[in-house]
Amino acid sequence: MLRTNKLNAAVIGSGFGGLAAAIRLQARGIQTTVLEKRDKAGGRAYVFEDSGFRFDAGPTVITAPECIDELFSLCNRKREDYVEFLPVSPFYRLCWENGDSFDYVNDEDQLLEQIKGFNPADVEGYKEFFKYSEAVYEAGYQELVHVPFLSFWDMVRVAPELIKLKAYRSVYKTVASFIKNEKLRQAFSFHSLLIGGNPFSASSIYTLIHALERKGGVYFAKGGTHALVQALSNLFEEMGGRLILNAEVEEIVTEQSRVIGVKTAGGEFTPYDMVVSNADVTHTYTNLLRSTKEVQGVARRLLGKRYSQALFVVYFGTDRVYPSVAHHSILFCNRYKSLLDDIFSKGVLPEENSFYLHAPCRTDSTLAPEGCDAFYVLANVPNLAKAPLDWSVVGPRYADWILDYLSRTYLPDVKRHIVTQRTFSPMDFKTELNAHLGTAFSLEPTLLQSAYFRAHNKEERLRGLYFVGAGTHPGAGVPGVINSAKATAGVILSELRDVPEFALEPAYV
Ligand SMILES: Cc1cc2nc3c(=O)[nH]c(=O)nc-3n(C[C@H](O)[C@H](O)[C@H](O)COP(=O)(O)OP(=O)(O)OC[C@H]3O[C@@H](n4cnc5c(N)ncnc54)[C@H](O)[C@@H]3O)c2cc1C
Repeated sequence: MLRTNKLNAAVIGSGFGGLAAAIRLQARGIQTTVLEKRDKAGGRAYVFEDSGFRFDAGPTVITAPECIDELFSLCNRKREDYVEFLPVSPFYRLCWENGDSFDYVNDEDQLLEQIKGFNPADVEGYKEFFKYSEAVYEAGYQELVHVPFLSFWDMVRVAPELIKLKAYRSVYKTVASFIKNEKLRQAFSFHSLLIGGNPFSASSIYTLIHALERKGGVYFAKGGTHALVQALSNLFEEMGGRLILNAEVEEIVTEQSRVIGVKTAGGEFTPYDMVVSNADVTHTYTNLLRSTKEVQGVARRLLGKRYSQALFVVYFGTDRVYPSVAHHSILFCNRYKSLLDDIFSKGVLPEENSFYLHAPCRTDSTLAPEGCDAFYVLANVPNLAKAPLDWSVVGPRYADWILDYLSRTYLPDVKRHIVTQRTFSPMDFKTELNAHLGTAFSLEPTLLQSAYFRAHNKEERLRGLYFVGAGTHPGAGVPGVINSAKATAGVILSELRDVPEFALEPAYV
């Protein structure tokens, strides 16, 4: 039975998806509590503060700012009053080992000029690719990203559009059908890796990221991504929400096919009318719902799904500045398809790898002490099912190897200038974030694991249980999980509209 006083909700986890869902529910008068396992909010967007350096742990590329702004306007506030977004240019610098580089910028003329430098014939191909990416963006992002796919018919309705856009082709194959030069193919296909998809198997729907970046821009939150986490946490608390840190949920308690509350570490039970899980979706089904018989089949099916890659990240601060390194660099090695095969299929930890290098001081110098520079470098690596490595042994060696490589190439002599260093391995993703198989992005975004085929935003077998975050529709990435919150909150609020005793407070706009 629902209680007759004010409704209350628990959100398990304070990732961007959890915070966005909590803000949406609180703004409609549902008394919402966020229960976060760790000592800081943000989930993958955690922050490490070492010796005067501030290292954002995860997301650094802010796109689709309007979905973030909407959370503030829902509460009759302005995002600009809480956190500033600084434009980043180039969006990314792409570098190859032979010294070639490509500044991926938003200025059309500069972009075309650079494409011409790689292969004049690809200028027209790129223009066609951009038109395709815009069409996918309109159909896949504008129309569907915040829509919950709860029934198979929701999928059937969009199938003709997906077929028309050839969504069954991979990202790489689609890019290659427009662009011939291999380096340019890499430049316009690597994006799906940022949300856990191998460009050779992720659906071409994810080429929409290119249009999304070009239309909305690429930003960095002043003070680092965690400043955005803080802004959302403040907004939530100002609206009357409760954020409780160091509060790991041990179990979602159910009775007669409905959720009645949660048990936190130590066994304390708190009743809630509804629970929204932002924790890893597989962790939620296999651990938090381990005693609920209604969902054991779902848990088993989830275990058989394909999971994204893992990441190994090295955060380091230097006692000198490297001014020529761009804010975001992708450092390609000489292998692309075979490298991704090693990581996604064969479970080989590559001896030669490609990297993403983050140098936030190019946009915001306050993230390191004066005269110093802050960095992180990340490598895609196999998840713990593909390669069950002991990262406590492998990690330090791999970090050393990566820093040697950077010392020889893009950050001359960097090893001698490092004053602080830490790593985050697939094992840390598992133990710190409860990420199934230590993945960075949950389920792999293949066509058969997208939309209706991804974990649903609502659990049909248990009343009062909902999901938000990377494992649900539409998937990983900051805009993805913030839109998943819109889909999930939409389902909850439309269900409550049918319960007369719960007059929801009007949204602020
Ligand atoms: C290194 C890295 C770089 C990235 N870069 C970008 C980028 O530049 N741009 C971009 O858009 N995306 C990026 N991403 C992806 C993006 O960060 C994620 O997809 C997104 O932040 C995930 O948000 P989420 O809502 O799914 O929650 P998560 O961030 O996964 O948070 C889930 C939260 O649940 C908590 N939790 C788990 N179990 C429990 C429990 N039992 N009880 C209580 N709490 C629990 C965890 O501690 C965690 O805080 C990156 C990811 C990584 C890892």
